[in-house]
Amino acid sequence: MSMDNIYTTPEHVLLRDQIARFIEREVEPHAAAWEEAGSVPRDVLRKMGQAGLFGLMYESQYGGGEADALTNLVFAEALSQSTFGGFIITALVHTDMASPHLHHAGSAAQKARYLPGVISGETITAVGISEPCAGSDVAGMRTTAKRVGDEWVLNGTKMFITNGVHANLYFIAAKTGTARHDMSMFIVEKDTPGFTVGRSLRKTGWLSSDTAELVFDNCRIPAGNLLGDEGKGFYSVMKNFQTERIALGAMAVGHCTQAIKLTLDYVRQRQAFGATLWQQQTIRQRIAMLDAKTRAARQFMYHCAWSVQQGQDVVQEVSMLKALTGELVNEVLQTCQQFHGGMGYMRETPIERLWRDARVLGIGGGATEVMLEEVAKRY
Ligand SMILES: Cc1cc2nc3c(=O)[nH]c(=O)nc-3n(C[C@H](O)[C@H](O)[C@H](O)COP(=O)(O)OP(=O)(O)OC[C@H]3O[C@@H](n4cnc5c(N)ncnc54)[C@H](O)[C@@H]3O)c2cc1C
Repeated sequence: MSMDNIYTTPEHVLLRDQIARFIEREVEPHAAAWEEAGSVPRDVLRKMGQAGLFGLMYESQYGGGEADALTNLVFAEALSQSTFGGFIITALVHTDMASPHLHHAGSAAQKARYLPGVISGETITAVGISEPCAGSDVAGMRTTAKRVGDEWVLNGTKMFITNGVHANLYFIAAKTGTARHDMSMFIVEKDTPGFTVGRSLRKTGWLSSDTAELVFDNCRIPAGNLLGDEGKGFYSVMKNFQTERIALGAMAVGHCTQAIKLTLDYVRQRQAFGATLWQQQTIRQRIAMLDAKTRAARQFMYHCAWSVQQGQDVVQEVSMLKALTGELVNEVLQTCQQFHGGMGYMRETPIERLWRDARVLGIGGGATEVMLEEVAKRY
């Protein structure tokens, strides 16, 4: 299966190869144990930082690579060749969903303080937007931040926060006024008094990714921890969703690609009724169609990243990508698991894990229906 397209440069190929070697050596042999433990060891993340993988898009003065949106997509897609979604999302939340808030809105002082650690992997980040009573409806959040003297005082609860348990640095959205969209982003360090992290939530999949509830009870942070302009947090969140949703698309396409490879290998050797499963026309035609859909989605994904790079407004296209790939990955995994028969239902087979991990890709980071509304309202 060719991985090249018109957007790929020789540097992209080198990056892909570097990540493929990392996954082969450092991830696939060990990640089953991480799934048992419920988190990815910090030294693995540190190694990724040291290898230059955590700062691709960021300024060189802080240790970053100043790369463009296509390079960042190559990174997300290459990482998504792992068959462990929990590992992939741990890294992608740090690189593509949480730390971009600092990159896009941080002041020079904030970047100087935090970005070097984010890029080296010493500091792992999380982003807290969703709440027990508000997920899709971001503006419906209830967490508040009130200015008192030279501090902000945060009160409220965040829900389903990836890297919530093990992060050191959190980017938190809170209401700073009474209007529906009046919210701001804040930087909160771990161990700030008034900030507690709940237990790791038990999930269907993404087992090596820690997911937590965060509670802010009169949590006081310095005034300087406001991230970006006061009252403009909603727009920051929406802007960052574009990076996040391309990364989630890459994850979905990566899972599709891996599932198709695994299934091709399986049905070519599995015997039934005196022949391999591959010799059943219905099986090979369905795999061919899933591969066609996956390749088409992949080209659209690269086109979206290329459009971002040209500075185009791509909210409609990126919302389409998120909806399309979030559903496609479930279609692909449902069928690929089916073709593995009983073996596909066994824990610790990669196809069973991919099937479990696929489910959330139609929910997290913008549920399919919400994405389709974003598409429809732009016609
Ligand atoms: C494993 C995991 C990790 C996550 N990590 C993070 C994180 O790091 N940070 C963070 O802030 N959040 C995180 N989330 C939260 C995630 O983004 C939300 O779960 C998601 O946005 C959906 O919100 P909700 O769960 O409140 O569902 P709701 O908003 O209650 O929606 C429930 C369902 O209703 C449907 N629906 C909602 N709105 C509409 C509509 N307008 N039209 C039609 N149908 C609709 C959709 O099918 C949706 O799935 C994570 C979630 C999970 C499961």
